[in-house]
Amino acid sequence: MPIGHHSWLSAFRLRILHRVRRMSELQQHLRDVSTTPTGHTELARRSAGVIGLLVLCIFLGASLILARIAFTLNQDELNRSQTLVQKVFDARLETVSSTLLNFAYWDEAFEYTKDHIDLSWIARQESMGRTLLAQYALNGVLIIDPQDQTRFAYIKGQLTIDRPQTWLEGDLNGLIHKARAMSFEQQTAQAYFTVEGKPAIVWAAAIRPLSYPLDVPAERLSVIVFVDALGENSLSQMAKTFGLNNLRHDTSNTDVGLDLSTEPRIRLTWDVTRPGDALLMVMFPMLVLSIFIFSFITWHLLRRSIKAARQIDLSHEAMLKSEARFRDVAEASSDWIWETNAHLTVNYLSDRFGTTTGLNVNECLGKSLQELLLFDQNEFMALAHSSLRHNKPIPCRHTDVNGRERIGNLLVRRIDTQGVVSGYRGTVSDITDDIEAKAYILHLSQHDAVTGLPNRTHAYEILQEKLAHDLTEHTGFALLYVDISGFQQVNDALGHSAGDRILSKVGQRLRQIVGPDSFVARLGGDEFVILTAPLSSTALSTLCETLLDAFEQPITASEQELRLGLCIGVAQAPVDSNDSQELLRLADIALHEAKANGRRTWRLYNAEMKKRIQERRQLEQDLKQALRNDELRLVFQPRFDIASSQLIGAEALVRWEHPERGMLSPAVFIPMAEETGLIVELSDWVMHHACLEANRWDASVFVSVNLSCIEFKRSDLVDRIRQVLARTGLSPSRLELEITESVMIDNAEGAREFMIELKRLGVKLSMDDFGTGYSSLSYLSQYPFDGIKIDRSFVMNLADPTANNQAIVKAIVALGQSLSMRVTAEGVETQEQLDALATLDCDQAQGYFLGRPMPPEHLREQIAALSWPAAH
Ligand code: C2E
Ligand code: CA
Ligand code: CA
Repeated sequence: MPIGHHSWLSAFRLRILHRVRRMSELQQHLRDVSTTPTGHTELARRSAGVIGLLVLCIFLGASLILARIAFTLNQDELNRSQTLVQKVFDARLETVSSTLLNFAYWDEAFEYTKDHIDLSWIARQESMGRTLLAQYALNGVLIIDPQDQTRFAYIKGQLTIDRPQTWLEGDLNGLIHKARAMSFEQQTAQAYFTVEGKPAIVWAAAIRPLSYPLDVPAERLSVIVFVDALGENSLSQMAKTFGLNNLRHDTSNTDVGLDLSTEPRIRLTWDVTRPGDALLMVMFPMLVLSIFIFSFITWHLLRRSIKAARQIDLSHEAMLKSEARFRDVAEASSDWIWETNAHLTVNYLSDRFGTTTGLNVNECLGKSLQELLLFDQNEFMALAHSSLRHNKPIPCRHTDVNGRERIGNLLVRRIDTQGVVSGYRGTVSDITDDIEAKAYILHLSQHDAVTGLPNRTHAYEILQEKLAHDLTEHTGFALLYVDISGFQQVNDALGHSAGDRILSKVGQRLRQIVGPDSFVARLGGDEFVILTAPLSSTALSTLCETLLDAFEQPITASEQELRLGLCIGVAQAPVDSNDSQELLRLADIALHEAKANGRRTWRLYNAEMKKRIQERRQLEQDLKQALRNDELRLVFQPRFDIASSQLIGAEALVRWEHPERGMLSPAVFIPMAEETGLIVELSDWVMHHACLEANRWDASVFVSVNLSCIEFKRSDLVDRIRQVLARTGLSPSRLELEITESVMIDNAEGAREFMIELKRLGVKLSMDDFGTGYSSLSYLSQYPFDGIKIDRSFVMNLADPTANNQAIVKAIVALGQSLSMRVTAEGVETQEQLDALATLDCDQAQGYFLGRPMPPEHLREQIAALSWPAAH
């Protein structure tokens, strides 16, 4: 993991640590406040309900109390006015009664009214009546004689006689008798009468002497009667005097009233002021208003508090979520969290500590941080007290419960409480696995999985490291470039897993031979490199020979014993070069030379090799030019039918007319063209010109063109030939393609498919240089060849009966016949050879004896003759 990544992570971890601690404190607080996340809102809602109910109760209560007060006030006022009226009335009765008594106890009147009334005296008393009426607001004053006759009546300001009986409706006689009966008591008789439809109070008292005792019986007494009609005037005067409102006589049963008499029914009523109603009128609207205002304020406050409560609930919920999130992160992280006091005594360890170290968290609390971890305390303090909040990890080590050492990165922050350092906290990330993984990855990146040997990258590193020192001839070393020849074929034949096992064994064998002082690496494929310790030239050649010898021993893989060849190219440092790339290149040049010299060789690099390489490279460049500058030529070598001695075809052979080096043989440039891939372009040129030339020949003569095995490795082969035929217009049956055995060895199945397709085009195929390769005779039957060209080497000493070539040629001819393939003998140089071939029943022949490769115009002439060369 890169450092940058680490510090970023560390910062993140510390932030989380801080958050987690803060969160858990907060959460504790919140847990105290409420248990459920929606608790506050619910609580506020419930209180709102209760408060609403309370307000309603207060309102109802206040209304009741107000109504009650109003009722009481009204009632009190009613009672008061009733009492007042009663008192007023009583007082009136009393006043009138005592006034009447004053008149009744009257000596003079007694003398004039006993037994019978002296009318003349009565007449003189008119003023008395007027005075009484006026002074006491009476309506009438009567004097009744002992015979119950009214002798004096002063009614409504007029003196009348004999009227009272009609004016006063009631039992006047009864009242008079009662008054006489009470003449010995100081009292008056009272009764209620009706006067002109209005109620009236009537008092009566017997007239008796004041200054002497009554000496006559009551029947002889006259009676004085006062009438007080409760008319409007009288009542309104009474009302005025005592502050009563609308005092009146009313027999309807109102709740306010004073019943004076039942027969006749006399009832006084008046308008009572209702102070309770007035109070209600004023207070009730005020109560309603104040309740309304109070309710509104309460509602508003409750709404706000519900809103606030919801806010609290939401933030509480968010906090719980956030806390859970950070806790998960902290737990999911591989780090553990610690906290100490100012003296580094551990007072908190996260659960991860236990998981990571296997130690018991509780047992470790109270210990010193240095007891748990090994770290540089100076660095710890420097970082903790630095003013920057950086995240530089401090390396630390500790031993886990299994006694295994673990490596960690420690991060620290100091805890400031009101400006004083009260402790430290931080994280430890266990990077042991990282480090081990890194080491493993490094090993993987430097080693080859198949052989376990160092790989190309690592080999370069080691090489550069070695070359970095100042090397002398004595401290120098050799670089051996090793190539396993034949490995590719084995790999193809036995499969990759067997190939891998072989490579592994090759690696082991190399290691074993070179010993611990040398370095062996696999560069890839079947190429290995060895860097030796300083060694003498004899020791170097001994080493190379030992290596070659060692590979004489077969290697066993997949129950098969394999004999692999070894080629070694050697370059020396600092003698040849002290540049790593150059040294490898030189060793590769030497390897090339070694390969060119056989399957089991080694070559030490020398300057000549470099020269050859340079020449070759120059030639490569030149060949590219040659194609463009039209420096290639074609020569044609004729082929004859042995039996009829007819010219039946010609093989096109390429030549290069090099501007400096003259005419070059294909043996010089064809392998190079194959290596560089130029062969395709070259071959196209050859085929094109060969076909064009063949078009000028007699139609019975075919042209034969050589194909390289490289061309069979490219998928466009068939198309190319189709195009050549199309462009030149040559009949496919007049084109023969010569293919060597190597094509089949390199790419057996693919080659067969190509051949089948080529056959479909209509061209002919022949196997060139037959007998030089590894292929067995049985091979042939599987491929659609039209003919076989027996290699020159078999024809060479055909005439020599001691060599067994005759038998071989005979066998090949027989094979060809059995497979219906025409057999051509190449390299026929003598008449004897030709004769022998004829005897062996060989079909066709080609060679210097019959015709050397010649310029096209010469061949054309010969074709025109169409006959066996006259010269032979
Ligand atoms: P090859 O296909 O076996 O061609 C026959 C070679 O044997 C020719 O050599 C020819 O000159 C030579 N030769 C013919 N008769 C005799 C004889 O009686 N005695 C002796 N000693 N040699 C004889 P050349 O032209 O130098 O070609 C060499 C090889 O180069 C050819 O061998 C062929 O494999 C390759 N080659 C030539 N031209 C081409 C080409 O156009 N394309 C490809 N791919 N290969 C070519
Ligand atoms: Ca050939
Ligand atoms: Ca040949």
